[in-house]
Amino acid sequence: MTTIKKGINGADVKTLQQALNKVGNYGLREDGIFGLKTEVALKDYQKKYGLTPDGIAGAKTWSKLGYSTSEVAKPRRIEEIILHCTATKDGVDYTSNSINAAHKARKFSTYVDPKNGEVKYIGYHFYIRLDGTIEECRPINVRGCHAVNHNANSIGICYAGGLDKTDTNGTKIKDTRTTAQKEAILTLCKRLLTEYPTIKRIIGHRDTSPDLNGNGVIEPFEFIKGCPCFDAITEYKHLIKG
Ligand SMILES: [Zn+2]
Repeated sequence: MTTIKKGINGADVKTLQQALNKVGNYGLREDGIFGLKTEVALKDYQKKYGLTPDGIAGAKTWSKLGYSTSEVAKPRRIEEIILHCTATKDGVDYTSNSINAAHKARKFSTYVDPKNGEVKYIGYHFYIRLDGTIEECRPINVRGCHAVNHNANSIGICYAGGLDKTDTNGTKIKDTRTTAQKEAILTLCKRLLTEYPTIKRIIGHRDTSPDLNGNGVIEPFEFIKGCPCFDAITEYKHLIKG
């Protein structure tokens, strides 16, 4: 179970609605959409059971509803790290807010940002700015939304860049990583490999499936033919043991 609140959709919301209906006869539609009615019911439940009535189902609320803490914190099995680029031009300091807006427009799955409680859409777990700053986006234990058929067991890392300065239509791919970005990615990968010994490979988005919808055409918005615009497998092979 993940931390959920109003604005979030998905299986965990449905589980919450079912659990609330069972304990409190709230008559919620069990549709997996966390709207106002679900929030009102949750706050009522939290008040009655001595929890902070904030309308956010976190570890304490889940636990009270009968989901053991270990179940709440059950970690995903991480098997691979997948590298991406933003497909923006060399030197453009694209922000994670811009990624969030883009992924919201594409209706990516949501998560609650643990830093400020906001509902976010960024499909990646980490974002690397031009200056090498590592931004933590989606919590690692939340399934990502960045590589079809690979999201369940992977961590997605994206760096700003991937296109030549002279690009006009998203085809002039280029490894635009700054020295700081290269160092940040390497440091992050090493850290993740230590924290998740189950990781078996570090690959690029382009090493997954090049044709997302299977129509034989690489859609421009997918930008996966080149992503992340360098050979991740070769570059990070030395980090993988065995
Ligand atoms: Zn990608």
